[in-house]
Amino acid sequence: MASGWRIEFSEISSGWFEASFQTASWVVAAESDACSLVTDWERYYEAYPTDANRKQLAVANNNCGIEYADKGQWNTAERYLLKAKSLDPENPMFKRSLANVIAHRAQEAFDANEFRLAQADYEKALRYDPDNSQIKMALSEVLYRVESRTDRVRDYANDGAQDLNGGKFREKIDQYGREMMIERKTHEEKFRNWILRFQEGLPEVETAKIFDLLEDISYRIGEDLQYWIKRPVVVVLTDEASFKAIHTGPRWAGALNDGRIKVPITGVSWEDQSFKRILAHEYTHSVIEDLANRRFVPFWFEEGVAQYEELKVAGEDPGDSKHFFEVSRARRDGSLLLIRDLSTRDIAERLTPGQVQLAYQESLAFVLYLVENFRFYTLTSFLREIRSGKNLEEAVTTGIGRNLDFLEEDWKSWLGWKWNVELQTPISSS
Ligand SMILES: [Zn+2]
Repeated sequence: MASGWRIEFSEISSGWFEASFQTASWVVAAESDACSLVTDWERYYEAYPTDANRKQLAVANNNCGIEYADKGQWNTAERYLLKAKSLDPENPMFKRSLANVIAHRAQEAFDANEFRLAQADYEKALRYDPDNSQIKMALSEVLYRVESRTDRVRDYANDGAQDLNGGKFREKIDQYGREMMIERKTHEEKFRNWILRFQEGLPEVETAKIFDLLEDISYRIGEDLQYWIKRPVVVVLTDEASFKAIHTGPRWAGALNDGRIKVPITGVSWEDQSFKRILAHEYTHSVIEDLANRRFVPFWFEEGVAQYEELKVAGEDPGDSKHFFEVSRARRDGSLLLIRDLSTRDIAERLTPGQVQLAYQESLAFVLYLVENFRFYTLTSFLREIRSGKNLEEAVTTGIGRNLDFLEEDWKSWLGWKWNVELQTPISSS
């Protein structure tokens, strides 16, 4: 069974650049006209070109830049700050402001899934403020996605974590270290936006076929979710032992997507349907990650939609009763898991080994219920609501059109109806 685990990065990658900008104190002005002072000081400096006036003009430019930054106009802000820096290269504050502004712009690019732009801006920001730990951490997050090697990722994360709450990142930095060890025995190949990293010694990897498969998968899943990933997608294929070393998800994870798609492939043939299904499943997580801007998406949605797409790509009917034997059993003995519980952040860690399959099957059943009763597009509406920062309750109500309590109850009776129909099918069909 294809199963996977997605690690959440939202806590780490958002909200880092919320620190308010400082306004230099030399020029006292009402906030609203910080920019009009630039013209005043330009004239004044032209008439009296002293060092002190040059520095004042620099400060005026800085403050005007900050005013634009406060409005989120990063490009204009950058222009004024560059002017300030060129007028007074000694003032370290201008460089820090520049770094801050450019990092904000990088974060916007990251949120818009423009990973290359985000990378370029974070690197630029670091040149102005080489000791900024938050920028280093953010850059490591982007690099993890745009490169299939982990050296630079680890270096930036390790550096950045020193000044931040280092312990919080320790586990992740250790994982990066293990990835680097495994990468010594791997090759990389690229095709369009795919970056494939695979291990030596695996059965001969036919990369052209895998790229074909990925192209086909992304095209078909894109049709449903109306989204085709344009940014780099890293796919790592390893043997089972290496896979175990580089994943931090639950023990039962069969493959995972933590910003990179990681699949253990020992014993799987390239033409094998199960390989195609695993890739389709994990790629769906990448699409959801982009569409939700890396915000938290509930387990039932992640796993329900990923299984729905994986089955469709494999040419199977997601509604076939054979995918729901655990749900059927749980309905009989009253042990169905609540959809509300499948919406909590830590549910994957809390599932007992006996509940994992049920949780997956229920997620698929719930998504199927939503597709059949509310149409597929309500699922993408739900994601848009999540992306806009709504909480689960609001996102369900606005995106799907009913609240979660209603849907949970209605889904349970739908299951009964669905099952009766399914149970009769073998009898009535010829
Ligand atoms: Zn999954």
